Amino acid sequence: MHVALIDPSRVVLKIVGEMLAAGGHSVVTFADSAAALAHVEADLSVTCVLTSLEVQPICGLELCWSLRALADDRRPLTILVMSATRDDRPLGEVLDSGADDFLTKPPSAQELHGRLRSAERMLKLQQALIRQADTDHLTQLLNRGALMRHAATALAGASAGRPLTLLQIDIDHFKSINDRFGHDVGDQVIRCVARILLETGAITGRLGGEEFAVLMPGHGLAGAAVIAHRIRGQCAANQVPRQPNLRFTASIGLTEWAAGDTIDALLKRADLALYAAKRGGRDRVAVTSPSLQTELIG
Ligand code: GH3
Ligand code: MG
Ligand code: MG
Repeated sequence: MHVALIDPSRVVLKIVGEMLAAGGHSVVTFADSAAALAHVEADLSVTCVLTSLEVQPICGLELCWSLRALADDRRPLTILVMSATRDDRPLGEVLDSGADDFLTKPPSAQELHGRLRSAERMLKLQQALIRQADTDHLTQLLNRGALMRHAATALAGASAGRPLTLLQIDIDHFKSINDRFGHDVGDQVIRCVARILLETGAITGRLGGEEFAVLMPGHGLAGAAVIAHRIRGQCAANQVPRQPNLRFTASIGLTEWAAGDTIDALLKRADLALYAAKRGGRDRVAVTSPSLQTELIG
């Protein structure tokens, strides 16, 4: 684990820091609790905080509150508290303040490593739950909610001047694929498209049913159009395993971020483009500009 260790004593920091390093953990040490809190807030790779109760300028209990507030259902964080006092009152208060566990100071190497192993088991479980909550179960792409969260970051980048484009992809005549080949084969087609989209290396999600979105930070319209054509071609050329008589195509709508766009505005324009690609005969790519000019581009 990546551990932030906080204690006013350099000696404790050295001894406990060495114990942690010997257990295979990476450690960053702080004598100042305010600096530690700022670091944990900024560095999302910190998954465990081991702090003494006797710290300053933010006292141990207050530090636990603040750390617990940083840790939400998207950021698991284990908070372990050490103290030389072993009264029941501070122990109860510490746990009520958001700490997960309590160790007497100085901890034995055995106890410390045991507690960290237990914390790590819990952390892995939380991380697996977060992954599951973000993932579409059929395709393993991002689900709609996770895609929207990624979009917020991508939009912040776009506001700072980084190009951003969005593709919306919809499988053509998918209902008739289900009707002719069965729902299971339909699912196989959805997974084929997901694999093709994943190869782009972009932010890829399933919006629902047979509809997908690909967000491409760093790509302007020209680059995104090349990728859209490639996806369209790969779908049309794809052979679904054990289904020699099945071919499928997809239509793609493309749009580029413009100043002031929300994710809803981007999705709405990509949807307009997608509708034009369908109307234009399907198995097509269309683009809608920020001024709502739409054209087929292949
Ligand atoms: P278009 O070319 O205009 O997009 O026509 P379409 O038939 O693809 O579109 P339509 O919206 O009429 O049908 C989409 C179908 O997708 C209907 C629904 O039963 C099916 N569907 C939605 N989710 C799933 C899924 O998870 N698996 C399978 N196999 N089918 C699904
Ligand atoms: Mg659809
Ligand atoms: Mg469709």
